[in-house]
Amino acid sequence: MITATRLGILEGAVSIAVNTLLFLLKFSVGRRIGSIAMIADAWHTLSDMLTSVVVILGFWVASTRADKRHPFGHGRAELIASVIIATLLGVVGFNFFSESATRLASRRSAEFSIMAVLIFGASAIIKEALARFSFWAGRRANAQSLAADGWHHRSDAAASLLIVAGAIFGLRWWWMDSVLGMGVSLLILYAALDILRSSASPLLGEAPDPDLENRLNTIVRKHVSPDSSVHHIHVHRYGNHSEVSFHVRMPPDMHLSESHDRITAVEKDVNSSLSMQATIHTEPLQQP
Ligand SMILES: [Zn+2]
Ligand SMILES: [Zn+2]
Ligand SMILES: [Zn+2]
Ligand SMILES: [Zn+2]
Repeated sequence: MITATRLGILEGAVSIAVNTLLFLLKFSVGRRIGSIAMIADAWHTLSDMLTSVVVILGFWVASTRADKRHPFGHGRAELIASVIIATLLGVVGFNFFSESATRLASRRSAEFSIMAVLIFGASAIIKEALARFSFWAGRRANAQSLAADGWHHRSDAAASLLIVAGAIFGLRWWWMDSVLGMGVSLLILYAALDILRSSASPLLGEAPDPDLENRLNTIVRKHVSPDSSVHHIHVHRYGNHSEVSFHVRMPPDMHLSESHDRITAVEKDVNSSLSMQATIHTEPLQQP
């Protein structure tokens, strides 16, 4: 089975390779037909590689082992990469919106050229294919940063498609590509915000999901006593490594060495059945 790290680095490398080819194509054709818009888009395509470099760096750092300075590993690097990519995507959306608004205000529309329609049409199809590949890899690797890169590819596909639409329909409806452009940029901004929110939330630290309390209670009752229970659960996630701490109510007359044995058994069980490192605080059960 392909690991999440390999999948992430593969997505980044494929994106960089495809964007390099698109840059060379747009730049050389743009120079030949003297299209400033196409040359500008070529530079944009080159700048898209920055996002993919962040994807690769995020996965690479996340895959390195825990060290003295970072005893919980480096798993959160992938979330930090997602925050950076979402921020870059937000900048793309903002620029796209202001360009479209300026074009609408100055009543300009795209010029028609067969070559531009062909190049941008091909670019839209390739970028959408790249977006779908990234979304697929993101689901497989369970990685926000890949979905974020996918949204960037899709935003580029939409921008290329709008240039084609503007070139074909611009003669009849001069305002069409700028109005559609504003709509698409709002979608991009929404996607950026959504990714930012879902990758920042685990970095801030989240409440445990309610199901965890039930599972911990089952484990505690198995090893300690049927009327034991847990409360005050804290969960800290670091990519593949998770820490959990909680309080356990114990029979008050249990000897310290026996309670230590039982709590150690609980910690081992939590580790093997939930893959979490547990730290437990004990307190006496209130007797009626
Ligand atoms: Zn882009
Ligand atoms: Zn480190
Ligand atoms: Zn307590
Ligand atoms: Zn101990």
